[in-house]
Amino acid sequence: MAHEISCQICQDLLPLVQDGIASQDSQAAVEAHLGCCPACRALAEGGPPPPPDGQKLLRHTRQKLRGFLLIVLLAGILFGLELTSSIDLFYNSVLMPTLGAVGYLVYRWKALYRMPLLMLALCAASAALKLLRGVEPVDVAALPVWAMIYCLFALVGVLIAGLLHFALKKEG
Ligand SMILES: [Zn+2]
Repeated sequence: MAHEISCQICQDLLPLVQDGIASQDSQAAVEAHLGCCPACRALAEGGPPPPPDGQKLLRHTRQKLRGFLLIVLLAGILFGLELTSSIDLFYNSVLMPTLGAVGYLVYRWKALYRMPLLMLALCAASAALKLLRGVEPVDVAALPVWAMIYCLFALVGVLIAGLLHFALKKEG
């Protein structure tokens, strides 16, 4: 009859058995081992690696997503600020509320004060960069006004996203 095998040998042979290419002896040995070893049986039933901490994985994915959204947010605000001195200015009436919604995804309700802070900081930074480059005559005085207007647009986006989230959560 089949000799007893160690967990290590069992796990080495397992893929071959599962693919149906193991010898009959190996198969019998693995099956015998699985019959009396819960650890290897879990491994055989659960697929390749033993499932890692699901919560941890989810948190990791969320953090990654959050980082990505934050980059989208920063890039979007800078892009919007760049539009200020162009004819495409009015796109910001759509862009800024959208960014506000993204801000809600990243910060939740904290976006209500973080979005304006972010907006003003980026506005100041972009104005400073333009002055340094000296490329175009920037209407520096008008920039804070635009930043305030964009803040309002963004806050509308935060509110809409937040209320939608709240409503969906209630329904769920
Ligand atoms: Zn085992």
